[in-house]
Amino acid sequence: MRIFAEMTDMEHEQLVFCHDEVSGLKAIIGIHDTTLGPALGGTRMWDYDTEEEAIRDALRLSRGMTYKSSAMGLNLGGGKGVIIGDPSRDKTEELWRAYGRFVESLGGRYITSVDVGTSPADLDLVAQETEYVGGLAHLSGDPSPVTAYGTYVGMKACMQHLTGSDSLEGCRVAVQGAGSVGYTLCEHLADEGADLMVSDVNTDRVEKVVSDFGATAVAPDDIYEQDCDIFAPCALGAVVNDNTLDRLSCRVVAGAANNQLDRDEHGVQLRKREILYAPDFVINGGGVINVAHEFHPNGYSRDLALRKVESIRDRLLEIFAVSDEEDIATNEAADRVAERRINSMARIQRIRV
Ligand code: NAD
Repeated sequence: MRIFAEMTDMEHEQLVFCHDEVSGLKAIIGIHDTTLGPALGGTRMWDYDTEEEAIRDALRLSRGMTYKSSAMGLNLGGGKGVIIGDPSRDKTEELWRAYGRFVESLGGRYITSVDVGTSPADLDLVAQETEYVGGLAHLSGDPSPVTAYGTYVGMKACMQHLTGSDSLEGCRVAVQGAGSVGYTLCEHLADEGADLMVSDVNTDRVEKVVSDFGATAVAPDDIYEQDCDIFAPCALGAVVNDNTLDRLSCRVVAGAANNQLDRDEHGVQLRKREILYAPDFVINGGGVINVAHEFHPNGYSRDLALRKVESIRDRLLEIFAVSDEEDIATNEAADRVAERRINSMARIQRIRV
């Protein structure tokens, strides 16, 4: 792997390799772009098959965070940590504290939080060594309810764009995945009178949504072809792909899952089929807004965070307008909106103060 070539390609500032023999820590921190502020992004712990795979994840995920924070109007850049190890086997106090010391050594250029394979309890250990940690249980805590609220607000923006009304009453919504985000999303949708269909590979989770909100259970593979207004991916990535795209029978794809499009060109194909796609890193930005509010000068306030989450609506409407004006897919429009903000802020930094 040609690391500097990859960094040049993806425009990274820094890649930090962290090693500690005592704890067995092998971690990589990707810092993509700090134009807007310190690089915020969770730490993923995963049993990677190769070191190259871990490096690629650090590069790819940190870049994604730059775009997400920019699109959310946050003064934060993009970063991501990855720890090579099995989260069910390799977690120890020494490992997290050693990692925390490396995070501290970056002097605030990188702020970490939870991601796949890490928990608030792990972060508590990291926080014993560094102040640069967000998403602690006693502060902003689990971001899922806030992500779900942002996704609900984003769905309303989609209907506003399509019909001129943001009401979801009577709207048919097919939710894929009834986990932490999917369940709370269903609650908001049911409260507004939406008609829910739900699938999950975990049948207990489906049954709970059926009994709590009167949803209709759908087999996991049948969710794609439900005749509905909104298909809401809230489970896995890459669910809009060569196999599923033609099966979709919806007007909107809007959900919380990360990396919903298998490839960028699937965004173009959705546009050709006149299906409105709410770019994932915008509609699921509630979680990062929630964590970012821990660093608010007046301290964390859930009310303030939720108010900021409501800006997802205007950001999506702006992206849909750019997509229509420039006749480009909404995922490309979202990238442009995020890049535009970074470039303007870089320009104003020329002003000496
Ligand atoms: P979760 O693990 O609590 O829920 C995911 C659910 O999807 C589980 O119930 C799982 O059984 C189900 N699932 C797995 N494979 C499936 C399949 N093939 N068909 C249907 N269901 C399936 O995760 P979560 O925290 O609710 O996150 C959901 C998605 O949103 C993930 O992609 C996550 O990366 C993304 N996301 C979450 C947050 C957050 O704040 N939690 C923030 C941004 C993005």
